Amino acid sequence: MKAVQLVAYGKPLEIREVPTPEPVGENVLVRIGGAGLCHSDLHIMEGKIPILPYLPFTLGHENAGYVEKVGPNVKGFNVGDKVAVYGGWSEKVDRFVLKGEENLSDVTKWVGIGKPGGYAEYLLVPSYRYLLPLGNLDPVEAAPLTDAGLTPYRAIKKLLPHLYPDSTVVIIGAGGLGQFGVRYAKLLTPEVNVVTVDVNRRKLEIARELGSDYVVDSTEKDPVKEVKELTGGEGAQGVVDFVGSDVTMNQAYAMAGRQGTVVIVGLAGGTLKFSAGTVNEVSVTTSNWGTQLELSEVLALARRGVIKARVERIGFEQVNETFERLAKGEVEGRAVLVP
Ligand code: NAD
Ligand code: ZN
Repeated sequence: MKAVQLVAYGKPLEIREVPTPEPVGENVLVRIGGAGLCHSDLHIMEGKIPILPYLPFTLGHENAGYVEKVGPNVKGFNVGDKVAVYGGWSEKVDRFVLKGEENLSDVTKWVGIGKPGGYAEYLLVPSYRYLLPLGNLDPVEAAPLTDAGLTPYRAIKKLLPHLYPDSTVVIIGAGGLGQFGVRYAKLLTPEVNVVTVDVNRRKLEIARELGSDYVVDSTEKDPVKEVKELTGGEGAQGVVDFVGSDVTMNQAYAMAGRQGTVVIVGLAGGTLKFSAGTVNEVSVTTSNWGTQLELSEVLALARRGVIKARVERIGFEQVNETFERLAKGEVEGRAVLVP
């Protein structure tokens, strides 16, 4: 089968011929319907997150498609079924797996990060238990839900206990993930004001379309000052940083109000200068992908038509040029590889 592989850090991906895996036991071979291009792959390809077990390696952790072939011990799935693939695979049974939080367990076994991913014609899924039926959803539209849709769902939920009506939530970085963040901030919270910060005008227009009440172009205005002004000096009750650079993390912290919560999702390798002894009691945390239960909830929201990825379909030959556009912020929503 064809697969798009990283052969060396800092080099473009290559389309290579690799053996089509054979499902055994409770494995399922999924024919990829769509595999989303995530900015995390860019960090990995640049060698900034040294996590891959070996090279050449097939990336792709945002996958949906069709059951192609099942191992003899697979239950409840048949050839042709449309499925989303939950990618937080774990071979451990630790405290977090027992809690249903495989996304905190065994990162070295995740799809497209520890095990071959979905930038290929077929994907070997270790167990049918990682599959979720799509129902009326199209695999191309559903693929981004497994990460771009899922990760912000978990991140925004971390804010919920701290928000109150008319408080303010700030989304920094309205790309593939952040656009879902804007939507969830409107959908899941008690009538808050949503402010979106980005460096790209088009992304800010999209954030407005998705319901953001205010937008700030941080190439033109200081987002910390803007948020303070919009909140009468108080600051935001919740901030989610979908960039994670030195600049954005420090902006996020500085714009949070008393007992505000800052959730860092972006993996741009930033460091936060955190000052002890301040009277604002701001909490700073990270958020890591999501659970399979959370993914099932995200799929339910998509089936009800209240969330939807902004999808651009690409073929194998366009993967490198599309990653270049993603790096420059020129992909409007999510680019999805359709083999
Ligand atoms: P993306 O490229 O689609 O979106 C990034 C957005 O940030 C773009 O709109 C860009 O214009 C904007 N941006 C860049 N610099 C900015 C700045 N200084 N201020 C404000 N906005 C800025 O990327 P994505 O696929 O949505 O991923 C976003 C980040 O989340 C990446 O770092 C990725 O690695 C990370 N990620 C984390 C997890 C997790 O579990 N924690 C999961 C998936 C992705
Ligand atoms: Zn990702």
